[in-house]
Parts: sequence; structure tokens; C-alpha cells
Amino acid sequence: AKKFVLRKIFDGFPKKEDMSLEVEELPPLKDGEFLAEAAYLSVDPYMRAYVKPETWVFSEEAFIGGQVAKIIESKNPKFPVGKYVVGSFGWRTHTISNGNATLVSTPTILLPDIGDLPVSVALGVLGMPGNTAYFGLLELCQPKPGETVVVSGAAGAVGSLVGQIAKIKGCTVIGIAGSDEKGKWLTGELGFDHFINYKTDDVQSKLKKLAPKGVDCYFDNVGGELSSIVIYQMNKFGRISVCGSIANYNDTKRSQASVIQPPVVSQQLKMEGFIVTRWINRWMEGINQNMQWIKEGKLKYEETVTEGFENMFEAFTDMLKGKNVGKAVVKA
Ligand code: NDP
Repeated sequence: AKKFVLRKIFDGFPKKEDMSLEVEELPPLKDGEFLAEAAYLSVDPYMRAYVKPETWVFSEEAFIGGQVAKIIESKNPKFPVGKYVVGSFGWRTHTISNGNATLVSTPTILLPDIGDLPVSVALGVLGMPGNTAYFGLLELCQPKPGETVVVSGAAGAVGSLVGQIAKIKGCTVIGIAGSDEKGKWLTGELGFDHFINYKTDDVQSKLKKLAPKGVDCYFDNVGGELSSIVIYQMNKFGRISVCGSIANYNDTKRSQASVIQPPVVSQQLKMEGFIVTRWINRWMEGINQNMQWIKEGKLKYEETVTEGFENMFEAFTDMLKGKNVGKAVVKA
């Protein structure tokens, strides 16, 4: 079995030397345990955000992360050999588990019946990012037909789903992401109405043009300056779902907050952050609804797959650099 262990707190952008790849020998199974072999592993922005000098506790445990794994040995009747399991097992090829949730605790569940879909969807559209889009948009923004919804990080795992769910709800959707190629995919394939390239466009003036009546909902995946620009163009009683702030995850100093209080007050905006496990008791609702929308052809998903467990670190940093479209995963 192999695992990646964090050796140094990331300082700025993660470096390869911050982690080490280890070989480990696993003990025999005890009653109630099963052994699972990773099929696909997830690389996510929270892995960068979670590593902070104040909170990180070093150990020989595998680095944090979700995976979908095949059960290859079992002494737990709820987790039989041959089935797939989805869990926060970390960056490791083999895991002994008793089925309880682990540190970064999305639940450990048997892969639900997903028909012909590849098992990797359990890490994306039918997993944590899918539920982030579903609950984060619908519960916090409550988008109404005819409203204008802006989503940043629009071509990623969460953002690409948020925009499509907003379309399902009858909204006009503007996606913001980092390349024109991503933009073509969003408007051409996924049905987004408009696209803004935050690297090359003048976001402020383009947004004014594309949303002449203002923005009603903003699903914020990135934070920073970009989000301030959007928030200044929001309508009265607009709603902001604060999902992530990837623009700041690699900052070495806390950046000066952009001033957003004036529009929050004058437009009486509602801004709320969330962690998707807030809806842990409704976990299967999100998965089932997204699955239904996929079957109806209303929700499309994309994956960027890196081959080989050894390439976890490269897949992780490629995702942070924006090389992924849709969900970034590693095929073990
Ligand atoms: P993505 O698939 O969206 O991958 C990250 C993307 O972020 C990259 O593809 C890149 O695309 C973009 N990005 C990187 N750096 C910057 C930057 N400086 N400014 C703007 N965009 C940048 O990841 P996820 O969909 O998994 O996650 C999206 C966000 O949602 C993250 O902030 C994450 O932390 C958050 N999240 C929060 C959860 C919660 O419970 N609150 C749960 C899951 C995710 P580009 O080419 O557009 O730059």
C-alpha cells in the first residue's frame, strides 16, 4: 500500500517537497473492518485551505481527501467484497475502515446505484461537489425564475453544476472563469447565457453590459477582488452564497479585505457562508436529485482525469492552477 503524507505546512503555493510518498504495510483486518482499494481519488481546493500552521496536526496519517474504492476484503457485512465505497480515506491506495466517518467528515457510504455512470462521479456531480452546488445554491440563494445568477469558478466541479441548476430554475446565468476555452464550454455545452474571463476581460464593465438589470444571486467560489466587483452590482435583497475563496488560499499574508459593506447595506444583501456537511442529514437528497437531472439530460458533468496514484500532487496543483474543467480526479 502507498500513501502521501504532509511533511511541511504549505507556504504559498504547495511544493512537491512538502509531501512524501510512503510505502506502508497494513495489519490484518479485525472484526467489523474492511479493506478497500482506491479506484479514483479526489483533489480539491479545501486540501490547500485546510493546511494552516494554527490547526494542522502532523502525523503519519495519509493526507486528507475523498476517494471511491473497491472493497477487496471484509469482516463487516454492511460493506461486502466487490462493492464500491465512498469515503474520506485520504491520499492512500489501500484503506482499512470500519465504515465510520473520518477526520474531514463526509459520510462513508456504499456507492449508490448509479446505473451506467462511471464510479468517479461519486467524487463530483454525485458526491460532495454536487451537493455543494445543490444545497449551496438552492438553500442560500433561493433563485427565482427570471432572476440573474452569477457564479465564479464557473468551469470547475462546483461552479459548472451551480450554473446548470440555476438554468433549471429558470434564471439567466453568467459564469466567470479563467479561460475563453472554458467559456465556450459553459455557453456552448452547458447552456450558460454569458461568460466573463476574469483574466482578460474588464469584469466590471462586461458584467454591467451582460446584467443590465443587476445581479440577484451570486454564488462565490473565489472571493477576493473579483467578488467585490460582482457584489457592487447586486440588486436590492440580493443573496450571496459564500462557498469558497480560492483566490486567497495561497496567500502568505492575510490580504486587506475589499470594502463590500456599502452595497451590503444599501442593497440589503444577504451574505452567508456554508460548509456542505451542514446538510449531512439530507445527503442523499442532493445526490438523487442531481442523478435525476443527469438522466433527464438537464445536468451535464465533466471530469479531468489524471492517471496514476503517484501523480496525485501534480493533479492537485494543476487543479489549483485552473488546468481542470469540471471535477479533477486521479485514477489510481
Ligand atoms: P474547481 O474544480 O473549481 O477547481 C478550482 C478552480 O479555481 C480552478 O480550476 C481555477 O479555474 C479556479 N481558480 C484558481 N485560482 C483562482 C484565482 N486566484 N481566482 C479565481 N479562480 C481561481 O474546484 P471545486 O469546484 O472543487 O471548488 C470550488 C470552490 O468551492 C473552492 O473555493 C472550494 O474551496 C469551494 N468548496 C466549498 C465547499 C463548502 O462546503 N463550502 C465544498 C466544496 C468546494 P480558473 O481557470 O477559472 O481560474
